[in-house]
Amino acid sequence: MPEGDTIYRAARTLHRALAGHVVTGFESMFPKLTRVHDDTPITGRAIESVTARGKHVLMAFSSGLGDRSGQDLVLRTHMRMNGSWHIYRPGEAWQRSRRDMRIAVSTADYIAVAFNVPVAEWLTSRDLRRHGELTRLGPDLLADDFDAVEATRRLKERADAEIADALLNQRVMAGIGNVYKSEVLFACRVNPFSRVQTLSDAQIDCLVTTARKFLQANVTEGLAAMTTYMGFRRTTRRDDPSERLWVYGRVDEPCRRCSTAIRIAKQGRDARLTYWCPTCQP
Ligand SMILES: [Zn+2]
Repeated sequence: MPEGDTIYRAARTLHRALAGHVVTGFESMFPKLTRVHDDTPITGRAIESVTARGKHVLMAFSSGLGDRSGQDLVLRTHMRMNGSWHIYRPGEAWQRSRRDMRIAVSTADYIAVAFNVPVAEWLTSRDLRRHGELTRLGPDLLADDFDAVEATRRLKERADAEIADALLNQRVMAGIGNVYKSEVLFACRVNPFSRVQTLSDAQIDCLVTTARKFLQANVTEGLAAMTTYMGFRRTTRRDDPSERLWVYGRVDEPCRRCSTAIRIAKQGRDARLTYWCPTCQP
């Protein structure tokens, strides 16, 4: 599953390319999306914004000319495990097969393509305020007004949960995926299998603060110029886990602090992989 920072960067790239521009074409493999397009065309509407909320991407469209209700619409997509949004110049070769295309939104200058996105729906702004999955999200680690007190409260509420599972729970905090889960636990020297109730306040503070710091560090660096698909990534070298990460993806390699071999185990109901150093995270 993509991490919150990946989705945040994708949404920001889409926003820079599309916001304020008029839709010139709309296509989707989802009948429930095209049905709305048939009734109240997306073509001719302006894209107002593209934002990330946790792991959801929200693309807001103005009310359409032919739409007598004057309803604005928001396209909600969730990436789950394999979904992604790319952006291309017209005529630029796609990085994925056309078979994987689920949604394509064109403007005069760009085409935004959602590949293998399993969850997509139209919402009105009223639906959005009442949307179960969105309203239940915990404080967003990448939001300017991130509420650390509330995040801490929600974390402590999961007293019996193993801390690694609690960190992945988007209702506790929105944005942590499997990579940052292991990295944050290592940085704070917390064993991934500890129950939340056994952690000190200092450890909980460290986890919340570090999660925000790590995610922010990956969205605030010099990415201003990026516009096309390649811009979604950092440089190849920096994306290489062998150079960039403390424990994730480093099973049996020596810990960067103490040289103990990094361990791996499946954890939680979804059997997500957890990496840790048994010496630094006893
Ligand atoms: Zn170690």
